[in-house]
Amino acid sequence: MQKNPELDRITEEVRRLPILQVVGKQMNFAYCRYGNYFGLCPFHDDTHAGSFSVSETLNRFTCFSCGAKGDSISLYAKIKGLTYFESKMEIAYAFGIIDSKTFERFSGKTKTKNLVENVNQRQPKNIETPKKDTNKMIHFPVILNTVYSAFLDLCELSEAHANHLTNVRKLTSEIINERKYKSNVEHGTVFFERLREELRDKEVLKGKTFREIMEMTPGFYQRKCGNEWVWKSHNTAGILIPIQNELGQITALQIRADNEMNNGQRYVWFSSTCAKYDGTGLFRGGISPGAPLDVLYPKETPSKALFITEGRFKAEAIADRIGAVVISVQGVTNWKGIENLVTETEKEAKKRFEGFEGFKNICMAFDRDIHSKYQVYQQLKRLSDELADCFGNKEIFYITWDGYYSGIDDLLGANIGKTRQEIGEILKIHNKNYYDEEFERQLSEAIESNEKGPIDVLSRKYLDYIKIEKETKEAKKKRERRERIYKKVPFLYESGGIRI
Ligand SMILES: [Zn+2]
Repeated sequence: MQKNPELDRITEEVRRLPILQVVGKQMNFAYCRYGNYFGLCPFHDDTHAGSFSVSETLNRFTCFSCGAKGDSISLYAKIKGLTYFESKMEIAYAFGIIDSKTFERFSGKTKTKNLVENVNQRQPKNIETPKKDTNKMIHFPVILNTVYSAFLDLCELSEAHANHLTNVRKLTSEIINERKYKSNVEHGTVFFERLREELRDKEVLKGKTFREIMEMTPGFYQRKCGNEWVWKSHNTAGILIPIQNELGQITALQIRADNEMNNGQRYVWFSSTCAKYDGTGLFRGGISPGAPLDVLYPKETPSKALFITEGRFKAEAIADRIGAVVISVQGVTNWKGIENLVTETEKEAKKRFEGFEGFKNICMAFDRDIHSKYQVYQQLKRLSDELADCFGNKEIFYITWDGYYSGIDDLLGANIGKTRQEIGEILKIHNKNYYDEEFERQLSEAIESNEKGPIDVLSRKYLDYIKIEKETKEAKKKRERRERIYKKVPFLYESGGIRI
């Protein structure tokens, strides 16, 4: 088909419309998290909100169950049973991008009344941010924050746990109180009566029964004792770690278990899925927290580098010692929604710290030996590729260091380097593209030089061989030149200033 500049312009303008405004009237969303609106997926037989989401920031939708993804045009097409082209034309007409004559010219059909019912209400060319339907939407983080805060206020912090937080994790008592670190124990009827009392007058919970509130909060469930239903909560003994979103709302609780779990894990979610999946009929309620991302802000105006790490205690060390904003993932594969969260966190940081101009860099600070575990490295690469795609204007770095300490929190906790600059000199800060190229190069070199051995990239034999040093100034210049040329070819041609 011949390219049509007018059609290209229409497509361009339709794509720029806020996706929520385009499909908002046709879809119900169950809740919103990190600027993602969750609802039922129209592309597969979906019964539970959670895998299908529309992103306000990226202006796209994704379904993690069936893999459907795309822009507002394809979502609208699916809901209305239209082709992509029909959908585009309808939206363009509804939003006043084209008039009815243009619509007819391209579609070859007359505009009928039922096509887009909301045309009359809309103000063409005057698109506002979508109004969030507060009645339909549950403000999930607000509810969770209210319930968890009240719950934590009733919990105690044992002396042993306080000592661990102070001596091993190097947290000040101010931080321990502010974040509400507490001890998890089994709670009885009296405790839940007090919690019910605490939640009774909370404005955001008005109109909901205690049972409704507790059933939508992961960690709580009911167990049948004789003829009565008794409230229970997740009872793994350990330190409760309140996970916070970009607004500082507590969206989940994690437990650092006192004893390792059977599967060797130390960290578990405060969850009540035991009730959901138990088939005995003795339990009810039961919900999983998923694996929400955690955001910490430093006390003073933050560094221009946003840090991404794994686990709350690494995040605490980075926020305190480096003075950076930190997003922590709980497990290297659990970074769903991080693109939105980076955007929202940057907005919030600008609000919180006057004069803060945003993040220039993104630093990925995981364990020292990220490349000695190939799967871990691959996961980090996937995450950083995603961030590089979304945030072309921010430079991405991997952080490693030599020596004894395996986690960055151990290194920072050892008080090596007092200032941000001194710490910066201890850390090896690798440009992502350099690191990835160097990793590939050294890995294939290792494999080639070991022709007799099995070609197994997961083997420690090859991975131990890899040692990535700081990029030299010359190599950096070369790389940057390559990247500039690669990225800006059209510009260079247009400007005519530089010949390549
Ligand atoms: Zn789906």
